[in-house]
Amino acid sequence: MTTTTTTRGGAWLIEEATEPIFTPERLTDEHRLIKQTADEFVDTEVRPALERLEQKDWALVRTLIRRSGELGLLGTDVPESLGGVELDKVSAIIVGESVGHTASFATTFGAQTGLAITPLLCFGSDELKAKYVPDLVSGAILGAYALSESGSGSDALGAKARATRQPDGSFVLNGEKMWITNGGFADLFIVFAKVDGEQFTAFVVERSFPGVSSGHEEHKLGLHGSSTTPLLLQDVKVPASHVIGEVGRGHKVAFNVLNYGRFKLAAMCSGGARGAIGEATAYAAQRRQFGQPIATFGAIRHKLGEMTIREYAVESMLYRTAGLIDGTLQGTHDSQETLEALEEFAIEASILKVAASEMLDFVLDENVQIHGGNGFVHDYPAERHYRDARVNRIFEGTNEINRLLIPGMLARRAVKGGLPLIPAARRLQDEILTPGLSESAGDGPFESERRIVSALKKVALMVLGTAMQTYGDTLSEQQEVLSTTADIIIDVYAADTALLRAAQSSSELQASAATVFVNDAAGRVEIAARTALAAMSEGDTLRTLLAALRRVLKVTPVNTVALRRAIADAATSQKGYPF
Ligand SMILES: Cc1cc2nc3c(=O)[nH]c(=O)nc-3n(C[C@H](O)[C@H](O)[C@H](O)COP(=O)(O)OP(=O)(O)OC[C@H]3O[C@@H](n4cnc5c(N)ncnc54)[C@H](O)[C@@H]3O)c2cc1C
Repeated sequence: MTTTTTTRGGAWLIEEATEPIFTPERLTDEHRLIKQTADEFVDTEVRPALERLEQKDWALVRTLIRRSGELGLLGTDVPESLGGVELDKVSAIIVGESVGHTASFATTFGAQTGLAITPLLCFGSDELKAKYVPDLVSGAILGAYALSESGSGSDALGAKARATRQPDGSFVLNGEKMWITNGGFADLFIVFAKVDGEQFTAFVVERSFPGVSSGHEEHKLGLHGSSTTPLLLQDVKVPASHVIGEVGRGHKVAFNVLNYGRFKLAAMCSGGARGAIGEATAYAAQRRQFGQPIATFGAIRHKLGEMTIREYAVESMLYRTAGLIDGTLQGTHDSQETLEALEEFAIEASILKVAASEMLDFVLDENVQIHGGNGFVHDYPAERHYRDARVNRIFEGTNEINRLLIPGMLARRAVKGGLPLIPAARRLQDEILTPGLSESAGDGPFESERRIVSALKKVALMVLGTAMQTYGDTLSEQQEVLSTTADIIIDVYAADTALLRAAQSSSELQASAATVFVNDAAGRVEIAARTALAAMSEGDTLRTLLAALRRVLKVTPVNTVALRRAIADAATSQKGYPF
């Protein structure tokens, strides 16, 4: 069990952390053991199989999933009574990071653990749990999640699949689902359909039920080693006992599963980035041009440093969030309490999904660039990683949808009183709109970075508060302002967390990573805030807000070139991510 501060989701925006956050430096022996097990499995059994998986060797996928089950990796946070290992959420992300670099296999694995097991565990009846969860956790059967349709992806509740209620209480399902991961070989599907065309509902459907079939494999940009097919349902008779949760409450199942799925996807992106940093540093150290290793060129050191820093920020948010969820759960695996904890940290899950998937795409793009021509050909894995990762910004809720959710959820909590954002924004307005009140930096360690992070929080509150005041009930229609506000909030959580982690460690390298991240976040946030404020106000009001912004965000730049070089050199000498 992990002990960390118990707090509310989003509270970091208005409060200073009063207790240590959970970080990778605080892993317990149990965590390290599960990491070792997962890493060894991936290195010795999955990596050597990747080429065969690319050729769609589904029998091998089944074998590897069963091996994952034998090692306890499919049920880290599943109760022992259902065949799991009953560990915490930190353990779940450790495993997610380990499998992350295998992309296609990670997608199969994620669909099994996050999308098939989670809905049964959190919403299934005792009968459904007992019937299916132990076999999913052992890897004896494979699962899939069928929410999307050709006409309803982001708008999942617009599904056309229909469940017609029968006189005996059972249902007959008809419809076609699209892009179903594990679709070609799954034994069991979590299917969403509307009862009598209206009540959105989740069902468990076995492949063996008459009328269930899979369409052809999609020809995809990447993830060739992961099955993606349509799922066809033709007069499929499903017993009444196979409803997950309640009829008409399928949205609760779908959205809560996504909350957890986003968090786990971020872990896989983090693991993928760490692997790519390893490949990039090894390549840069051995590839010589102009008589010297390319790792010695400033332009390449900049890339390696920036890749490492961005992963550091994401990894820090991931472990902090896992610690917050575990702190709330205090060791319980009760499904209701788990659901509430996941819902509490839904804002952080969306932040992590966006930040991790975009960080990974940046890292993999730079990995191709560092490999030069070799980055563009099949002989090296850089091009495959680049193609495989692109979908992370599309599934589990597109990044556009997640960006809209982040400030939207914060605003809703503020209005409902769950988070005292409105009083904080009012206090802040009085404070920052009064000239001459800018804080001066002390001279302790990280003092200047702390001041910047505190300023970033003020800017986030100023922008969100102004948006809520300006648009009121119509805020959800202002997508550009919401998305820009989300970018600010993401940078705040990342900068706050990276700094807290570095301050908790005595590592000079971590201090450098946090310093660069905080410094650069200030620049990004300033531009985003100017864009948002200019869209919401004009004339004297805008001038006053911009003057306040300049006063709050008065940042003296640090020498990030030197700090990035030091981080790049550490990564190169360690042949990988140095933290
Ligand atoms: C490889 C792969 C595996 C997948 N696995 C599964 C799976 O296992 N199960 C499953 O159910 N689904 C799965 N999906 C489907 C995936 O979840 C959807 O593709 C995704 O939700 C986006 O839906 P869409 O493709 O219909 O895009 P659309 O919803 O049509 O979106 C198109 C664009 O419009 C934007 N957009 C849409 N609505 C809005 C809005 N309100 N405001 C602003 N912008 C908006 C989107 O952000 C996007 O940029 C998978 C997809 C892929 C490619």
